[in-house]
Amino acid sequence: MQAYTYIGPGRFALLDKPTPEVKDPHDALVRVTLSSICTSDLHIRHGSVPRAVPGITVGHEMVGVVERVGTAVTSVRPGDRVTVNVETFCGECFFCKHGYVNNCTAPAGGWALGCRIDGGQAEYVRVPHADQGLDRIPDTVSDEQALFVGDILATGFWATRISGINEEATVLTIGAGPTGICTLLCAMLRHPKRIIVCEKSPERIRFVREHYPGVLVCGPEACRDLVLRHSEHGGADVVLEVAGADSTFRLAWECARPNGVVTVVALYDRPQTLPLPDMYGKNLTFKTGGVDGCDCAEILRLIEAGRIDTTPLITHRFPLDRIDEAYRLFESRRNGVIKVAITNAP
Ligand SMILES: [Zn+2]
Ligand SMILES: [Zn+2]
Repeated sequence: MQAYTYIGPGRFALLDKPTPEVKDPHDALVRVTLSSICTSDLHIRHGSVPRAVPGITVGHEMVGVVERVGTAVTSVRPGDRVTVNVETFCGECFFCKHGYVNNCTAPAGGWALGCRIDGGQAEYVRVPHADQGLDRIPDTVSDEQALFVGDILATGFWATRISGINEEATVLTIGAGPTGICTLLCAMLRHPKRIIVCEKSPERIRFVREHYPGVLVCGPEACRDLVLRHSEHGGADVVLEVAGADSTFRLAWECARPNGVVTVVALYDRPQTLPLPDMYGKNLTFKTGGVDGCDCAEILRLIEAGRIDTTPLITHRFPLDRIDEAYRLFESRRNGVIKVAITNAP
């Protein structure tokens, strides 16, 4: 089968590999129908994910159809349409029992797919811990509607869940890339008083204005003033930092009100400085992640009920054999690209 492979720092290539097999009673083999490219894939190619293993098939955002299951799998059956969670987790260790599935201590626990073990930019993928890692897609939900459930939508859902957003809150989301928009959609589910989105790309600012007219949008230069004008206590109650630039890390804590929460969702290419003397007395709470992707069934229910729709994010589609081209477009951010769907021939 065709599998997009991490050759080594700086290089991915489409290779012909054997179709994976069920190796463990808890495994499922999934025929991938649709996958996508995530910024984390670019981080792997740039060498900024040291635990990524050369030779593995990349890709951790995908949906498909269960082809075969191991003898211990009970939650899905061959023929089921499923979302694949970015995280495979045992469901039994200390961290899993507390919902911190990103830190699952099983050998293939946490973010393994497309990083430490073969992922889904391929025709088939073997999913360990399938009872936890797969969720059935409701019949009325399409593959495109479900494509982001296991990764960027799970991330947005988790980030807004841990940030304590209530109906009084002013929420600032920094970054309106794909994960930023998923985070925005999940923040909207919690009905805060106000949501402000900060984004530097004029194209993405237009996208937010067009699709989410109830949200205030600004560029980074205007952000501090806009937040001050639209918050009662000197800043945002909750800041969600999804942009991942050096300047946006600083902007995030500067825009938070005293005793506010700053949730850092972004994966940075470089270490960031926490200038404690400058923020002394502001008494901020920082949360950082690593999504705990254990809410996928609930997210699918929200999609089924029409309360989340991420299909406008899919701006381009490519077949798997043109995935190099898809990566070039995704990385360039040209032609209004937000997300690229990679299709497999049925
Ligand atoms: Zn991702
Ligand atoms: Zn675990």
